[in-house]
Amino acid sequence: METPQETDRGERGERNESGYALDDAGVDLMQEQVNAVQQRLLDRFEAESQISSQAHAPVREAAFRRWLGEASGMLLGDLRQARTELADFTLIPFAQGQRRLCVALRRADHAIDLVLADPFDRGTRQWIESRLREGGHPRTRWYVATTGDVQAFYGRLERETRALAADTGGLTGDGERGDSGTLELSLAQISADESPVVRFLNGTLYDALQAQASDIHLECGPRGLVVKYRLDGVLQSVSRPEGREFADRVISRLKVLADLDISERRVPQDGRLKLSRSGREIDVRVSIMPSSYGEDAVLRVLDRYQLAADQTLSVDHLGFDAHAAAFIRRLAQMPYGLLLVTGPTGSGKTTTLYGVLSEIHTGQDKMITIEDPVEYQLPDVLQIPVNEAKGLTFARGLRSILRHDPDRIMVGEMRDAETAQIAVQAALTGHQVYATVHANNVFDVIGRLASMGVDPYNLVAALNGVVAQRLVRVICPHCTEPVKPDLELLTASGLDETVFDLPWRFQRGRGCSHCRGTGYKGRRAIAQTMALDIELKSLIAERASPALLRAAAEKRGLITLRQAALDFVKAGVTTLEEANRVTAVQE
Ligand SMILES: [Zn+2]
Repeated sequence: METPQETDRGERGERNESGYALDDAGVDLMQEQVNAVQQRLLDRFEAESQISSQAHAPVREAAFRRWLGEASGMLLGDLRQARTELADFTLIPFAQGQRRLCVALRRADHAIDLVLADPFDRGTRQWIESRLREGGHPRTRWYVATTGDVQAFYGRLERETRALAADTGGLTGDGERGDSGTLELSLAQISADESPVVRFLNGTLYDALQAQASDIHLECGPRGLVVKYRLDGVLQSVSRPEGREFADRVISRLKVLADLDISERRVPQDGRLKLSRSGREIDVRVSIMPSSYGEDAVLRVLDRYQLAADQTLSVDHLGFDAHAAAFIRRLAQMPYGLLLVTGPTGSGKTTTLYGVLSEIHTGQDKMITIEDPVEYQLPDVLQIPVNEAKGLTFARGLRSILRHDPDRIMVGEMRDAETAQIAVQAALTGHQVYATVHANNVFDVIGRLASMGVDPYNLVAALNGVVAQRLVRVICPHCTEPVKPDLELLTASGLDETVFDLPWRFQRGRGCSHCRGTGYKGRRAIAQTMALDIELKSLIAERASPALLRAAAEKRGLITLRQAALDFVKAGVTTLEEANRVTAVQE
């Protein structure tokens, strides 16, 4: 039977050639699904309209379109004219949109146009509505289009991406892996791939990069895989494809990409893979861990390009307040000595040091870094990646660096006694050393170094200052609104109603499509800084208790991280909840 859709510029034929083999038997499930939708709509059209099945194809097509609009009560959306770059894949991911025959288009007025091929498919509508809820209820308009139009739209999108990728040299043409062993990620590649597992994994990676996730979590649960992204430091659930077997196959596929042992499922494994998107190379660290339901994987995205291409990389990059930025600059420019930056993983310590190095790098100093891994490539700086497997540890690398006539050295992380001692020694012998240490605040750093066996006299002689930092999520500027925190929250935050008499600007983010419904967009750093003067130095050398040290530092105007976070609340930069998430009330 001739269908109206088939008159539509032959898109379907093209589709069938490229094929959508969704399972190993090679059955074209997706096309079958699409055909079934089409047939269902046509049957209904024929039953409800008076158009004879003998009518001319163009006449039937026009009648079908008209009927579609009337029966669904929706306007007809003209996808044939729609610009493909407006497609919003955070709302409707490419692969799912193709399968469910729907498109989300982001309009200039920030509203979303949703276009459906099957307006009677309640499953898809409910799925979109749940995505909209997660996306913070953006303003929407619903439209209906023919299956042919939706397929044609995705076809056009693929061709355009392919052309774009070819232009930028981002497409290898033959396979998924380029010559350099890099996994190419483009929409064209993702949708053209035969295996649903490959398509799912590639689609997830693509989507995560698009969302600027720092980590991707693939967790195996009783019902299948759960995918989460870490966005601005907070985990967010993204999708839950059903089925244990599918989950296993996704993890196996990931192991293949990361050069890991696919048959080993009982011990943790670590590997790496390289992604390429629009000609950009992105390193990903892969960690696999056995779990009760199979294996979990965490992928850490190391996107060097972002900073390397950023000409203005500086101490201000993380949004420190003026006081903290000035402090860091002053200490960074000292001719020799040790500057320590501390905080938990993901608090931006390394980024701060990159900002420092970029600012003070004049080309007249020899700068060497040792890192695990090298997160961002800095121009004209010798950067050495730690390679424990090959015996290049922090300590060994640092010792070699000292023979390489450096002026300034960055130690990615001081985590063992030997490294700490060499670093302190280097700072004492006329080098400027920048390093990160894991500790909670500026006082714990001192204790941490003492526990690594660093002599307190050497430490005070070398140490110029300590910066403790955290990253705080900033309220989304698109949906910020005033809010009055309730008493319970105030009490939990160590405050009371008297703050309402003070000029605090309590704000919150309502949640919108710009912030994926979270109410936050971007982060800024808060810092606790401590410069060491004679009195503090002698207290440390005498191994004074942290309480004593703290009292002395507070006399010098030391601000706690908690106070810094509350200053952001006061100014309407972040919420009280976020301040509580990042810093403890008692600090
Ligand atoms: Zn928002």
